Amino acid sequence: MQILKLTKSGMPAAWINVEQAATAIAKNQVVWSLGEGMTLLRGGVSKEGIQSSMDVPAIIAVTGAREYSRAIPVLTNRALFRRDQHRCLYCGGAFSASSLTRDHVIPRGKGGLDTWCNVVASCMACNQLKGCRTPEEAGMPLLAVPFTPNPFEAMYLMGRNVLSKQLEFLQPRFSDKLLAC
Ligand SMILES: [Zn+2]
Repeated sequence: MQILKLTKSGMPAAWINVEQAATAIAKNQVVWSLGEGMTLLRGGVSKEGIQSSMDVPAIIAVTGAREYSRAIPVLTNRALFRRDQHRCLYCGGAFSASSLTRDHVIPRGKGGLDTWCNVVASCMACNQLKGCRTPEEAGMPLLAVPFTPNPFEAMYLMGRNVLSKQLEFLQPRFSDKLLAC
C-alpha cells in the first residue's frame, strides 16, 4: 500500500508507505488530503483495552515536500515498459516485462543517449533484427514517439498497485501521450 505524497500546491513529491504518512500526520505536516477512510493504521492498545487507530488518506499534501519534477524521472525498465504499455514499439506486439528489452533508438554505439527520449520497449526479436542501426537504417519505423514523462506520469509509472483514488488525481494531469492502462 503506497500513499501519494504531494507538495502543498499539489505537485507530486513521492510514493511513501503508510507509516511514513502517519508520521507526517502526527507531526502536523499534512496541509490537505484526498481519499480518506481507505487505510486504517492500527496503533497500540491502551490499559482500557482500546486500540488506537489512524485514518491514513490515499493522498497527502505535505508542507516542505519537494517537488519530484525537479529531477528527470528515473529511467528504469519497469517504468519504460509501462510507458510503452508493454508493447514493442517496432512490431506492436504485447509482451510481458520479461520478454521486453530497452532499445536505444539511436544506438549507443552511434552516440545515442540512455534517456527517455531515446529509448523504447522492444521485443527481443525486433531488438536483434534492428541491431546497431537507427530505425531508418533498419527500415523499422517506430509506432510511437518516445517521450519524457511529466511529473504526474512519472509518479504513475513508478507506483505499485496505484489506488483508483490516486489514479483519479494523476490521470487528468497526464499528457495525451500516455494512456493509463
Ligand atoms: Zn517487436
